[in-house]
Amino acid sequence: MLAGEFISLLIVVVAFAVVGNVLNSKGLKGFLGEASVSLMLSRLGVENYTIFNDLTIRKPDGGTSQIDHVVVSNFGIFVIETKNYQGWIFGDEWQEQWTQSFRNGKKKRISNPIHQNYGHIKALMEYLGEEDESMFYSIICFGSRATLKKVSVNNPQVKVISSRSLISTIKSYKEMKVSYFRLNRYGLMLEKIGRTDRTTRKEHIEHVKQAIQVKKNKVAADICPKCGEDLVIRKSKFGSFKGCSNYPSCRFVVKRLG
Ligand SMILES: [Zn+2]
Repeated sequence: MLAGEFISLLIVVVAFAVVGNVLNSKGLKGFLGEASVSLMLSRLGVENYTIFNDLTIRKPDGGTSQIDHVVVSNFGIFVIETKNYQGWIFGDEWQEQWTQSFRNGKKKRISNPIHQNYGHIKALMEYLGEEDESMFYSIICFGSRATLKKVSVNNPQVKVISSRSLISTIKSYKEMKVSYFRLNRYGLMLEKIGRTDRTTRKEHIEHVKQAIQVKKNKVAADICPKCGEDLVIRKSKFGSFKGCSNYPSCRFVVKRLG
């Protein structure tokens, strides 16, 4: 073999080894898993859901909590932990460790992801200054390489699912849990620490802009943007102002006349 050929072959072998290593690393698998979940979540629609990916929350003790995905909506705050494991998964809500069982009969212990995600929820609640746990939902999302064999969970706030039912699981929550006030506040707080999916963020901004424009148009046409009744000039001891004719049922007031 010529020296040149040998070197070429060596380069190819080394390249394959490097690529193979990268492909096998947990980091890349985790990254691919999370990226596909981000993509899936973007199908929720920006109308009702705001998605934050890869949040790092600083805890009061100085440590950090890494959250894969948080979906904020009126229907709750969904904290999603993605697991890109393969094999059969066994476990229940109370066990310290779950079991991952491979086709060749080998078994591996994995730490209970529900407990792990509960830590994330606690850190998130602390960061948001929220004490009401009932608006937080924990979703443990396994990729397509895993089969949830026997995973039992009784807590209605917790779901352990396969990624293919992620959207339907989130959309199954229809009870209003989070006020618009909280929604805005939390959105801004999470925006500060997170990497919102770029298109989602753009669409979200676009959506907010549109909503503001619609409101302006209604006010310009003397229609109350809150209840749809006519806006009228009303008088108070501080002077006249434009407000909803449906007062006192509706308390909408145009901030400045003109
Ligand atoms: Zn009104």
